[in-house]
Amino acid sequence: MNLDSLVVLGATGSIGTQTLEVARRREMAVLGLAARRPSAELARLAGEWPEAAIVVTGATGDEARAFASDVGPDRVHFGSAAMAELARTPAIVVNGVVGIAGLSASVAALEAGNRLALANKESLVAGGSLVTAAAVRGGGQLIPVDSEHSAIFQLVGGMSRDHIHRIVLTASGGPFRGAARSELEDVTPARALAHPTWKMGDRISIDSATLANKGLEVIEAAVLFDVDVDDVEVVVHPQSLVHSMIRLVDGTLLAHVGAASMRHPIEYAITHPGRAAHTETPFELAGLSLTFEEPDLETFRALALAYAAGRAGGSAPAVYNAADEIAVAAFLQKRLGFLEIPTIIEHCLEHVPVTKPDTVDEVIAADRDARELAASLIAGSC
Ligand code: MG
Repeated sequence: MNLDSLVVLGATGSIGTQTLEVARRREMAVLGLAARRPSAELARLAGEWPEAAIVVTGATGDEARAFASDVGPDRVHFGSAAMAELARTPAIVVNGVVGIAGLSASVAALEAGNRLALANKESLVAGGSLVTAAAVRGGGQLIPVDSEHSAIFQLVGGMSRDHIHRIVLTASGGPFRGAARSELEDVTPARALAHPTWKMGDRISIDSATLANKGLEVIEAAVLFDVDVDDVEVVVHPQSLVHSMIRLVDGTLLAHVGAASMRHPIEYAITHPGRAAHTETPFELAGLSLTFEEPDLETFRALALAYAAGRAGGSAPAVYNAADEIAVAAFLQKRLGFLEIPTIIEHCLEHVPVTKPDTVDEVIAADRDARELAASLIAGSC
């Protein structure tokens, strides 16, 4: 397993950008960079890392030709299959892709025996058992980058599974914590995007406001740590300092505490089981108050629906995720109200048949069915 080099998928996004900061600081080789768009930023990164193979998954023919002649035709490849192939490069593969497009790359990285630093939620939510099976088959190592799952991964360490009673995921509660349903009827995208503690991409910011993000994380945690969704509790913790906790069978509660920064989980996934030494100001405890409250499942129905999808299993989490993604996009375009996001998810969970996918293609089919149904619901055509 090559742990000295990096391949970064979603290189120009939030996780990708922060991963490349870690790469610069640690002077690591970058052997591959993938992004959806043939942007000027990707061309700049290609210039900074001349060893890296470049993949663009979402370019038109004209854009592809222009980008290839700009960056160098021999090192640029196009399409999702090229991204999955890039994930087989012997390196630590950081998957910061947003959406189901990240799933086949996760499977490929693990099948090739690589360490996969995983920030693509869809890989575990939609592709759960396929991803864990790929790790077993290829000997790859899966390390979560999501802050909560990184915290749990670090807490669990080499602990015997028999000692772990339950997982406790913390949630900031998002910008509408404490709000009543009636106050959320006229929420605008701008208000929903204003997350109190984390700076993130648009979809995950809206998902934090609806608690759908926490719902996806409950499903992710169940897959990663091999527990039922009902053994994953959610507690609202507005300070976002406790990144998550585990309850042990003897009643002990272990917590992972630190400043809210994605730098730590990204760097930990790269250095595990080692740790980077830092000179930054130590985390100050004096004067801190940590508060915890129960999530409001009536107002934030998306969280309750995620448990339902997790219990249903099979393709239901993929349907949940796809329906949410379409609903969030429509909300951002002001075509759907904030409170209608969970309504769309619920309808799709009820009407898209649950299958037991054995292949990535079958997961993608469930994803597509849910997207089509969600889109037609939003368009008012059914
Ligand atoms: Mg998270």
